[in-house]
Amino acid sequence: MTPTGHAAVDHLLPRLAREPQYPTQGATLFVDLERRDLRRAYTPRQVVETFLEGRGANMFYLYNLLDPTIPGGPLSPSVPLIFGCGILTGIVPSAARGNVTSWSPETHVLMDSNAGDYFPSFLKLSGYDRLVITGRAENWVYLYVEGECVEIRDARHWQGLDNIELRERVAAELGAEWTRNLAMASITRAGENGALCAGIMAGPKAIYARGGTGAKMGAHRLKAIVVRGFDPGRATGAHAARVKPTNREIARQLLGTTVVQHALKIRGTPFLYKPSRLLGAIGALNHQQTTWTEALDAENIDPFRPSMAGCFRCPVNCRPRNDLARGGRGKGDRYDAGDGPDYVTVGKFGPNVGVSDVAQVIRLNNIANDLGLDAASLGSAIAWAMELYQRGMLTKKDTGGLDLTWGNYEAIENLFFAAASREGFGDTIAWSGRAVDAGKYPPEALDYRMAVKGLMQSDPHDARIIKAFALGLAVATRGMDHLRNRVTLEINAKINDDPPFKRDLYGGAVSAKPNAYDGKALAVRACEDTFAVGDAVGMCRFTTKLFNSPSLPGLEQFSKQIENVTGIALSPADLRAIGLNITGLERMINYALGARRKDDTLPRRWFEEEIEWGAYRGEKIGRDEFERMLAEFYALSGLDDEGQPALDFRARLAAVAAGFAVTVRIPKEIKALPGGGLVVTEAVASIRELRAALDHQFPGLGALLASDAFNFAVNGEVLLHGAEDHPLQSGDRVEVVMAMSGG
Ligand code: SF4
Repeated sequence: MTPTGHAAVDHLLPRLAREPQYPTQGATLFVDLERRDLRRAYTPRQVVETFLEGRGANMFYLYNLLDPTIPGGPLSPSVPLIFGCGILTGIVPSAARGNVTSWSPETHVLMDSNAGDYFPSFLKLSGYDRLVITGRAENWVYLYVEGECVEIRDARHWQGLDNIELRERVAAELGAEWTRNLAMASITRAGENGALCAGIMAGPKAIYARGGTGAKMGAHRLKAIVVRGFDPGRATGAHAARVKPTNREIARQLLGTTVVQHALKIRGTPFLYKPSRLLGAIGALNHQQTTWTEALDAENIDPFRPSMAGCFRCPVNCRPRNDLARGGRGKGDRYDAGDGPDYVTVGKFGPNVGVSDVAQVIRLNNIANDLGLDAASLGSAIAWAMELYQRGMLTKKDTGGLDLTWGNYEAIENLFFAAASREGFGDTIAWSGRAVDAGKYPPEALDYRMAVKGLMQSDPHDARIIKAFALGLAVATRGMDHLRNRVTLEINAKINDDPPFKRDLYGGAVSAKPNAYDGKALAVRACEDTFAVGDAVGMCRFTTKLFNSPSLPGLEQFSKQIENVTGIALSPADLRAIGLNITGLERMINYALGARRKDDTLPRRWFEEEIEWGAYRGEKIGRDEFERMLAEFYALSGLDDEGQPALDFRARLAAVAAGFAVTVRIPKEIKALPGGGLVVTEAVASIRELRAALDHQFPGLGALLASDAFNFAVNGEVLLHGAEDHPLQSGDRVEVVMAMSGG
C-alpha cells in the first residue's frame, strides 16, 4: 500500500538532504496540521540539477507524496499542498514568484499555480524554499513564520473574513506593515467553503488562482501563512561580487524592452485587450463572438488609475491601482478602490459575460479580489451559465430567479457573492468546470464549456486564429491555461517577416502565418521549456523571453545568475533540458491521475464553429491538422502515444524523482502497455523481486513471467541461468523475451 500524508513524509525524509546543498538554499518545511509537528530537510542536489526549485522541485515532492487512490481525492488532507519558491526568488529583479502545487479539486489533474507580490520572496529570504502542508487542523489555524520561529497559531477569530478585512486585521494584530515587514498567503470565505473557483490570495490582488487552490487550503483548515520580516543576507549568493552587477544587467535588459517601457509600466496587461479585439480574437459571450467594444480599451481605464503597484523588488510595477470615485463612478463602499484590473479580468468580466462598461469591470475586479476568487474560472463559469440560459438549458427556476441575460450586471455581481458563500445558484458557479460532475447541469452542457482537462480557460483570447496558441492550451499540463506556454510572438509582424530570426528563436522553421499549422509544435515546445524554467527560477512570466518579447531575459541570463547565486553551473542547454524534465514529470503525475492523449484537446466549439468577424472570418481548428500538430509536439517532447514520457525518458526522470527506476519491456502478446513496457520504481534487488513488484501493479503478471516460456535480458544480455537471483540496480533495462526452448 502506498504511504500517504505523514507516513509518506516519513518514507521520503531519508532520501532528502540534511544540510543546504548550495549557499542560498532554504529548507523544505513539512507541516502536519493534524499532529501539529514540523520537520525540515533540504532538496537533494541531484533533484535541483534535474528540476531546479519552484515549480520543478514542487513536482518532485508531489510525485513522491501523492496517492491517486486515496479516499476523499484531492481534498483529502493527506494530499499535500506545496508552496515552493524559485531558485532565484527574491534575489533577482522581477523574480518575485512562487508556485503552489497539489492535486486539483477543480480539475482532478495536476494543480499548479503561480503568484507574486511579496509572499514568495519573504518566505525564501526567511530561509524556506518550500512548505509542504498535510493534515487537517482541529480548528482554523494560521502558520506564523519569523525566521527560525515557526508556529501553528489559532485563527478562529479570522474565520469568515475576506481579503480586505483580513489584511487589515492581521496587520493590526501583529503590529506590522505590509510589504515592509509582513507578507501573507491566505484564503477567504470562498476557500473556507470549498468553492472550486477560490484561489489563495498572496496580496491585495495577487492570487494563486488556478485549479481550486483556495478550496484545497480550506480543506486543511489553514486560513493563512504569515511571514514576518526577512533576512536580506540570504540573497548574497556563492559569488556575491557578481550577483549585483548581473542583477543590474537583467533589470536594464527587461526595462529596455518596448513592451515593458510602453505598455506594462504605463497601463499593465490591459493593453492586450485592444489588439485582441481588433484581430477578432477576444472571447465574447462565452466565445460565441470574437470581438467586443472599444469602451474596454486600456486607455479608458486611465481616468480611474491613480498609480501603479508591483511585486517585491520588481522595477516594472505592472499592476494598475484603481479608484472609481476618482473617475466619478464610486458607490461609497469598499469596492470603490483596489488593485487591477489585469487583462484576464478585463476579458473575463467584460466581453465574456457581455459587460461593456469599464467602471463595472473595475468594480467586479475589486469584488473578486476581496472574495478571493479566480477571475478566469469565475468569469468562465458565469459565461457558461449565461450561454446555457440563452439556449434555454437553464431557466429562472434553476437560477433562483436570477436573470442570466448577457451583461446583466446586478446578476453577475450577485453571483460573485453567492459563489463565495455557496448560496443558491452561486453553489453551481462555485463548482466551476465540475458543474456537470456535480449533477448541476445535464451532460449536454459540456458542449458549451470552455475548458481543457476540466480547467476553464484562463486567457480572454479566442485561439481559433492562432494555431500555436491553440495547441499550447491543449497540451498545458494544468489545463486550459495560457501561462504555461502562450506563443504570443506568433502575432508579431516583425518576427513573422524575419524568417531567420524566427528560426533562431524557436530552433527550427515555424510558419510566418499565425493561422497555419506548420512548425507550430516547435514554438510551443520552446515556450513550454522556457516558461517551466522561468517558474522554477521564480521569474515573472511577463518579463521572461518569448512571452510578449524576444528581448527579455531568458535561459542565458538565468544560467549566469544561477551560477553566481548558487555556484551550480547549468548551461542554457541544460536549463532547456530541465524545462522538458519538469513538464515530463508533470505528465507522469497527470498520467497517474488518469490523463491521456484524448485530454490534450480543445473545446468542441473551436473545432466546429467558425469565427464570424474580422480579417480571419471563417477560421476554426481543423481536427486532422490539430492531430498532426499534436503528434509533432509529442515527438518533440519525447512522449509516447498516450502523452506520458516515453519509456527511457520516463525511467530517467523516475530514477531521480523516485530514487530508483528499472525499465521493463514486455511483448504486447503478454501485456499490451503504452510504449511497450513500464518503469518499476519500487527498489528491487533481483529479478525475483522485480516479478513481485510487477505483480503489485498487474496482479498475476509477475507469476506468469516465472514460466519457462520466458527469459529475461538485462541491459541487452539474455540470462540463461541463475536469472531469479540476478542482481538489479537503478537504471537497468530489463526485457522479457520468449524462450527458444519454452514449454
Ligand atoms: S512584472 Fe508585474 S506581475 Fe511581474 S513581478 Fe513585476 S510587478 Fe509583479
